[in-house]
Amino acid sequence: MSNRSFFLQRESLISTDRLVLFCDNRVVVKDDNFIWQHKNVIDLLPADAEFLLVDHDGEQFIAAHTAHDISDKITAETRSLRSLLFKESDIDFSIAGKASQILSWYRTHRYCGVCGNKTSQHEDQRVLLCANCGEQYFPRINPCAIVLVTRGREILLARSAGFFAPDFIVA
Ligand SMILES: [Zn+2]
Repeated sequence: MSNRSFFLQRESLISTDRLVLFCDNRVVVKDDNFIWQHKNVIDLLPADAEFLLVDHDGEQFIAAHTAHDISDKITAETRSLRSLLFKESDIDFSIAGKASQILSWYRTHRYCGVCGNKTSQHEDQRVLLCANCGEQYFPRINPCAIVLVTRGREILLARSAGFFAPDFIVA
C-alpha cells in the first residue's frame, strides 16, 4: 500500500517516477513507447500540468496531463489511445488505459454533479469530495474483456464493416 497521495504536485515527484503523458487528451508516444522517465520530461511540462498516481500490478506510474503539446520538444508524437491498442509492445497497454481513465475522472469531477460546489481532493484516497453536500466521486475504471468463440478447431474472427485493413480480430 502506497503512502503517496493519489493527487501529486510536481515538486513531490521523484527521479525514478515513470510518467504516462497526455497532451490535450492524446498520448505522447515515441517509437510505440508511452512511458517517460521523470528526468527526460519534467522540465518541459508547463505550469498547467497535473499529476495523478496510477497503480498497476503493484507498480506505480504517474499520469500527467497538460493542455499544451510538448511532443515536438522530445521528438515524439501524440496519438489517440485507441491507436496503441493493437501495437505489439513489451509495455502493457492497460497502463495507458488506466491513466487515461483516471485523468478523465479528475477532469470531469472538478465540480459536484449534485450541487455544483467545487470538489476537493481526499487526503489519502483516490476520491474527490464535495464539502457542501457530502457527495463522493470515485473513478470508474472500465474493465476490458476479450471472448474467444470456438467450434471444434475453428475460431470466430471478426472486423468492423467499415474497417478495410486485412486484419481480423478475435470477437
Ligand atoms: Zn455537492
